[in-house]
This record gives sequence, structure tokens and C-alpha cells, in this order.
Amino acid sequence: MSNEKFNLIILDSKKILKEYDLCDDCLGRLFVKRLNGTSNKLLGKKIRKKIKHKNSKCFICKNLFDTFPVILKKLVEASNDYQFFTFLIGAILKPSFIDRDDAIRSKFSLRGIDSIKTAVTKELSKQFSKKTKSISDHDSPDLTLTINFKNSSTETRSKPVFVFGRYTKTSRSLSQKQKSCENCNGKGCSVCCFHGITSFESIEGQISKYLYDKFDAKQVKISWIGGEDKSSLVYNPGRPFFVKILDPKKRKVKFYKKIALREMSLISLKIIPAFPKVPIRFNSLVELSIFTENPIQKNSLKKLSQLPKSAVAIYDKFGKRIEKAIHSFKYKKTGDSSFMAILNVESGFPLRKFVVGEDAFPNLSDLLENRCRCTQIDFRDIEMEWQQITSHP
Ligand SMILES: [Zn+2]
Ligand SMILES: [Zn+2]
Repeated sequence: MSNEKFNLIILDSKKILKEYDLCDDCLGRLFVKRLNGTSNKLLGKKIRKKIKHKNSKCFICKNLFDTFPVILKKLVEASNDYQFFTFLIGAILKPSFIDRDDAIRSKFSLRGIDSIKTAVTKELSKQFSKKTKSISDHDSPDLTLTINFKNSSTETRSKPVFVFGRYTKTSRSLSQKQKSCENCNGKGCSVCCFHGITSFESIEGQISKYLYDKFDAKQVKISWIGGEDKSSLVYNPGRPFFVKILDPKKRKVKFYKKIALREMSLISLKIIPAFPKVPIRFNSLVELSIFTENPIQKNSLKKLSQLPKSAVAIYDKFGKRIEKAIHSFKYKKTGDSSFMAILNVESGFPLRKFVVGEDAFPNLSDLLENRCRCTQIDFRDIEMEWQQITSHP
């Protein structure tokens, strides 16, 4: 430390301390950058010793830093429930603290120094990091802790975890989605224990419940790659889905390759860095069980051989024509008035309309000149056009 610089600081400090009492932390903060130092408190102490000044109550912070052992204990306690490797501490100070800090800085033309708020969060972060053996991270912390000095309350929030997986379904009476809590519309309230849903019978309900336990979380948001009827089966390898787990207390978990739940299974769950940024295109390999009004005439099913690599046209609610591709189409007669069709179609394909013949061209009823109805729609495979599913680093 150069003596000349320090002597100048002593001169400035004398000027300030003549009018305002400051604690070691605030005093040191005003000059620490001039010396490229790291500890406000140590510098403050050193200056005070040199000019033999006694501190009573800091004009700026009212000796806020003396309360840090208590604050730190609070923060550590608040973090105890969470698994985290990185953190960020935020502080809410009474406006009067910031006003007094600004006043001193402008009166004595002190530029380029940390504000009282920055000093508070920096010092708390330093101590918290030491105590919890975790790393301070501004950009994407696992855990964010906010201390409100107005009422000395703390708030914690952890970064969401994202999971990708697939599910299979072996029941013809299991819905995909769960109805939202009627009280909060899914936002989360005390009625639904902050889950956003109140019952758990569906695919969504069971996935949610499994993940609440796994990540010690209250709420998850599922993003589906397509959907199916309550009566549809979904075969291995299963329908893909993404989940955002909100405020998880655990974040490093391991999954079994296959997790059996009630009338469904979860397969290949893994943690991923984020949701995909673009809408995902996908194709479904679907098995349709179809009944016809009249017996199927010999050779009439042959008319269906024109369907592979074709498209079906539908009209949206604005009357706009949309085409949906049929990549492949196979069929098998299963009775006098029934057959099975296995087709690979692009996402959004109007399966029921295509069978019945309502506003979809071509369609099975027209092609066979025999009114068709579909009794079962089962999913053999759903292929996503998304390759960037990588494991969390
Ligand atoms: Zn102070
Ligand atoms: Zn609710």
C-alpha cells in the first residue's frame, strides 16, 4: 500500500469524520477501491486507528453490519432445506439508508465506490459462502435469498429444474390432464397446498406427484408432446413430455430407467438444461381400430394403398386450408365389418375426422364408400424432431 495514497485518504477521512460518524465498514468502503483493497472493514479500522477516532453510531447504516451474525444465521437457516451449489443474496434496505449514503458520496465527491446496498450484499455473500461452502453466482444461481431489512424477513427461491421423459399408458380409463384447482385456476393456493391441482388420478397428476416427492417441490408445469384420449393406450417407447419443476428443494436426483406408477410408467427421465426454445414438430405412429357400417367388400380396402406419402386437407376455423402428412399407412382386416389401420402422421393430424369423413379430404369413409367409425386410437410411437436433449452438465 503506497504511503502517499494512504496519507491522502487519511486527510479525506478526517474531513468526513469531523461531520459524520461512520462505522469501519462504511468508512473503509469509501476508500477501499483507491487502494485496490478487498476488505472495507479492515481498511476502516486502519484509518480509524491512525486518526484515533472513536465510532459511536454510523450515520449511514446505523451499525447495520453489527447485526450480520444474526442475519447470517437467518439466511443459513432459510437455506438449510435446499440443495444448492451456487447462490445469490439480495437485500432490501430502508430508503433512508440509501439517501444518507448518496448524500455523503455526493457531498464529498466520492465516485466509483460501492453503494451501501452493494456492500451489504457483498459482505453477506462472502460470509454466507464461507459458512455454507457454496459459490456466489449472479447469472444463474441455484438459490436466491433476499433479506428485507425493513422487517428482517427472508425469502428464498430456487432456480427451476427441467426434466424430459416419456410415459406409457396401459389403461383405457386414464386421462392425460388434470383439472386445475378451482380456487386458483392452477396458480397455487392454500386450498390446493400450492400444487395448482387438487387430485392426482390422471397422467399429469401422477407425474406431478412423483416429481413433487423426488425434487421436494410444490409445483410442476408439464409441456406435452401431443395428447391422447382417456381411452387411448400409449405403448413403449412412450409419449415425450417436458416438465419445469418450480422452487425445487432438491436438484440433483437420480431416476430409474423405468418407474411404474398406477396404470402407467415413466421412462428415461432425465434432467435437461432448459425447455426447447422452438415449438417441437413430431410424428405419431398410431393404431386405429375401425368399424364400418356395412360389411367390407372384397378388395375394397385396396383403395387405401394410395394413402402412404400423401396428405389430408382440413380447414381451420378461419376457413384456411391446412395439409397434414400421412407418412405411412398399413391396414389389416380384423372382421367382416372391421379393420385396423396403422399410420404414421404428422403432429396435428385430424385422426377422427379422417376416419368419419368430416371436413377432411381424403377420408376413410369416402374412400371405402362405407361409413367408418373409430373405436380405439392407440399410440405406438411418438418421434420428436428435436435432437438437442443433452444431459445437465
Ligand atoms: Zn456504516
Ligand atoms: Zn389452488
